[in-house]
Amino acid sequence: MPHSLLLGIVALLGLAVGSFLNVVIHRVPRDESLVQPGSHCTECGHAVRNRHNIPVLGWLLLRGRCADCGTRISARYPLVEAGTTALFVAVAARFGWSWELPAYLYLAAIAIALALIDLDVMRLPDKIVLPSYGVAAALLVPVSVAEGDWTAPLRGLAAAAILFLLYRLLAGWGMGFGDVKLAPLLGFYLGWLGWGAVAIGAFAGFLLGGAVGAVLMALKLASRKSRIPFGPYMLAGAFLAVFAAAPLADWYVTLLLPSS
Ligand SMILES: [Zn+2]
Repeated sequence: MPHSLLLGIVALLGLAVGSFLNVVIHRVPRDESLVQPGSHCTECGHAVRNRHNIPVLGWLLLRGRCADCGTRISARYPLVEAGTTALFVAVAARFGWSWELPAYLYLAAIAIALALIDLDVMRLPDKIVLPSYGVAAALLVPVSVAEGDWTAPLRGLAAAAILFLLYRLLAGWGMGFGDVKLAPLLGFYLGWLGWGAVAIGAFAGFLLGGAVGAVLMALKLASRKSRIPFGPYMLAGAFLAVFAAAPLADWYVTLLLPSS
C-alpha cells in the first residue's frame, strides 16, 4: 500500500477515534456509559444533529455554540479530534504499513484519553489502564508468533518489570498508584522497541514533569506540596521515545563510528 494512502486512511481513523475519545474523557471519570445516551448538549440536553457531530467541522459549523441553547462548547473537543489525528498520522509515518502499527495507534488513543483525564481529575482510571494490558498483548504477541522471534516481547516484559519497580519505589514521593499501574504498560511498549526507547522514555517523563513542576512553582501556580498529575508527562515522554529513540541511536552510533 502506498505510504500516502496509509496516512490518509489513518488520518480519517484519527478523526473518528478523536471524536470517541471526547466521549471517553468526559464520561469515564463520571462512570457513565460510553454508548448511551448519544452525543448531547451538557447544558440543555438536546441531541447533537448528525451534521454537527462531524469531527472538527461540526464545532466550526456551530462556531463553538450549541445549536439549541447557544451555550459555549469547549474548544477542547475539536482540539482533541485534531490532536488525535495529528498523533495518529505521526505514528503511521513512524511505523509504516507494519504489524506493530495497530498496537501503537491504540497506545496513542489511550495516551490522549489518560493524559486529559489525569489533568481533569488527577486519576488514571483502571477501566482504561488495566484492559490495555490485554489489548497490547493481543495486538503485539501475534507479531512475535508470526515472525518466530521473541526478543521484542521478552525485552518488553523485562522493561515492564523495571519501570514497575522504579515507579513503585517513587510512589511515596508524589507518584500516585495510577502512575505505578501505568508504568509497566509503557515499559512493555518501549521495551518492544529497544532499551534506548525505555531509557529515553523514562528519563524524558521525569524531565518534562520536573520542568513543568518547576515552572508552576516559579509562577506561584503550585507549591512544593501541591499534587501535579504525572500521567501526562509519563505519556509524553513515552511518545518522545517512540519517535526519537531510533534517530538518536543512529546519531550516537555515527558519533562513535564516524567512518561507518
Ligand atoms: Zn444546548
